[in-house]
Amino acid sequence: MTIPSKTDVVIIGGGIAGCSIAYHLVKLGISDVVLCERKQLTCGTTWHAAGLVTQLRATQRMTELAQYTGELFGKLEAETGQATGFRRNGSLRLAKTPARYEELARGASMGRNFGLPVEPLTPDQIKERWSAASGSPMTGR
Ligand SMILES: Cc1cc2nc3c(=O)[nH]c(=O)nc-3n(C[C@H](O)[C@H](O)[C@H](O)COP(=O)(O)OP(=O)(O)OC[C@H]3O[C@@H](n4cnc5c(N)ncnc54)[C@H](O)[C@@H]3O)c2cc1C
Repeated sequence: MTIPSKTDVVIIGGGIAGCSIAYHLVKLGISDVVLCERKQLTCGTTWHAAGLVTQLRATQRMTELAQYTGELFGKLEAETGQATGFRRNGSLRLAKTPARYEELARGASMGRNFGLPVEPLTPDQIKERWSAASGSPMTGR
């Protein structure tokens, strides 16, 4: 591949951060962008990521960013034709001690203030939503 001798933007590193910057610059109309990756795209820490896009973050801004990311990932396959395998399943956070429950309850309250659909569940309600909690195999929902 020929490396251009001149460009408006050079991004060093083709992990999720570099790829995201390149994607968003082009979306903004800044298309003279070169992304330099020393080995292979996403071969760094990004390769290890489980792919979870948890929505509840420590601050409102980070939560908004996570919400935006979930929406973007949900549209990428239709936009690019590249299968992403992204699914929005929601998530469960479990407390094994009263102190942990208190921490999660505070987090849930914060999440609701940030506009996230967060609700406390009883063990029976968890079994209804997640079959592995009742001992049967996961349905792959
Ligand atoms: C086990 C594990 C699980 C994780 N699970 C999740 C998850 O479920 N959800 C989540 O949100 N986050 C998760 N993370 C965190 C997430 O993976 C990282 O925050 C994210 O991948 C960081 O992306 P990055 O682009 O900053 O770095 P990287 O992915 O490391 O990208 C940096 C890139 O720069 C390249 N590079 C470095 N130096 C140069 C150079 N001089 N020239 C050219 N290229 C260079 C590297 O080769 C690399 O490809 C997880 C992390 C780990 C370790």
